[in-house]
Amino acid sequence: MTIAISRRRFLSRAATASLAAAFSSPLTSARAAAQRSGEAEFHAVDFHVHLDNSTLDKALELSRERGIKFGIVEHAGTKENQYPTLLSNDEEMRRYLAMLEGKHVFKGIQAEWTDWMTCFSRETLAQLDYVLTDAMTFPGKDGQRVKLWTQEAAQLVDMSDKQAFMDRFVDWHTQIMAREPFDILANVSWLPASMLEQWELYWTPPRMKKVINAALEYGIALEISSSYKLPRLPFLTLAKAAGVKFSFGSNGRYPNMGKLDYSLQMAKELDLKPADMFAPAPDGRKAVQRRKY
Ligand SMILES: [Zn+2]
Repeated sequence: MTIAISRRRFLSRAATASLAAAFSSPLTSARAAAQRSGEAEFHAVDFHVHLDNSTLDKALELSRERGIKFGIVEHAGTKENQYPTLLSNDEEMRRYLAMLEGKHVFKGIQAEWTDWMTCFSRETLAQLDYVLTDAMTFPGKDGQRVKLWTQEAAQLVDMSDKQAFMDRFVDWHTQIMAREPFDILANVSWLPASMLEQWELYWTPPRMKKVINAALEYGIALEISSSYKLPRLPFLTLAKAAGVKFSFGSNGRYPNMGKLDYSLQMAKELDLKPADMFAPAPDGRKAVQRRKY
């Protein structure tokens, strides 16, 4: 067990160091020294960090320790969404933005359901660095929002024909991407537990391409998720060839934020360069500013 853990740590450090090499051009002597000693530098960003059971100060401490900058994503949407903390109006959003102001983090939200943008003014949303969402909340038989990862999902969503569900699920991805002004699609290619073992059977190349094409069309980055270890390499390879941008995400609550082993491993396998990576858009080019909704 101990051996396995230290090997993982070693691989993670190796991947981080190699990524640091890819991300620093030209190399400063400090960076070169950091690489030689195997230390991570502030090259990788974890754009999917939740503060749920922690504080910003504790997260910042971890960020420094791990040498990884964090993008904080509080859940945001109407009060019908159930989360420990939920931003539902401009005032709550402004308080959140003020809390993050001047700290070494990116300011993001994880947008909920399809109507989140109606809760806030465009001006307030534009003060965020980015908006992240996923496709894991899905319309049930009566059109109600269903969290697909919960136990009751099996009763509320018709999954009797898994391939047919999969077609609807992929369409759901493209609908979200077409309608909502967000920057990062998180938890890409996630599947309900009953389907995950046969991931390849469900995420066929044509389905991958639908999501990839929508990402390109709407300028949305695809997250390489270290919590779910998804998408798998064939999906990422297609996405890279198509010219999609990627972000890294731990979906981490304390103390798991900044654990990017899988993301960094995939970045190495794909030989990702800075140009392949998502970076928050400059003012005027953020999704909430350039998209119609
Ligand atoms: Zn999340």
